[in-house]
Amino acid sequence: MKVRVLGCSGAIAKDCRTTSFLIGDRILIDAGTGVGDLTLEEMGRIDHVLLTHSHLDHIAALPLMLDAVSSLRRSPVQIHALPATIEALQSHVFNNVIWPDFSAIPSQDSPFLQYQSFGTGQLLTIDGTEIEVLPARHTVPAVGFAVRGRKGWWVFSGDTERNQPFWERVNALPVTYLVIETAFSNRERDLAHRSLHLSPDTLAQELANIPPSNRYPIYITHTKPSETGLIMDEIRQFDRLTPTGQNTGHDIRWLRAGQVLEV
Ligand SMILES: [Zn+2]
Ligand SMILES: [Zn+2]
Repeated sequence: MKVRVLGCSGAIAKDCRTTSFLIGDRILIDAGTGVGDLTLEEMGRIDHVLLTHSHLDHIAALPLMLDAVSSLRRSPVQIHALPATIEALQSHVFNNVIWPDFSAIPSQDSPFLQYQSFGTGQLLTIDGTEIEVLPARHTVPAVGFAVRGRKGWWVFSGDTERNQPFWERVNALPVTYLVIETAFSNRERDLAHRSLHLSPDTLAQELANIPPSNRYPIYITHTKPSETGLIMDEIRQFDRLTPTGQNTGHDIRWLRAGQVLEV
């Protein structure tokens, strides 16, 4: 199974796109601005969109993508999300003011989109792929996802601050790759805390939950474009040295848009 990184930045700029991952051909996780790099045909093949939460950087391209593929498709795109996320989309995006209500267009019987709600902890099977809904701790109801591949599970934290229930679940899975957010540098640690995101200091505390026997590549996502260099420097510092001067031995890498992970 291939996971194609369409966007993994915390904001937009040239060559920076917000969160979106294509799982195989038919499943999209989050619909940030990275979706705009797909061809029309690639967008048209997406049958399922799973959303971590309602924030704009994770849904920005969804209304435009649905519009782009509407004439190509014969069946509705299924939008899977928490009930609170679905309510937010209905009230604030597909409300016939910001964008048409595609759940009733062109007709109630044959709409462009359908909503499917899930709950945290649920194990979904979507187009033959097992996907577990993981807990996240953010300013709006939010989740992460674990997607089962051939070799193990690809795990995505979603937007989150420190989150013990996440590790209790993830440490029980054979993980091939972990994609975890670090939105801010330590300089912005107060803002990170208030907006319920991680900074390198809190990331270090989170990664200490991984038992030494469970080592796998860890990819950092959602860095602010203006702070990416600083964030990665701060991560390299803690990853190289614990307070006792030992290497913590994590395999931490920076995620790039366009990258394909074989899971
Ligand atoms: Zn968010
Ligand atoms: Zn975000």
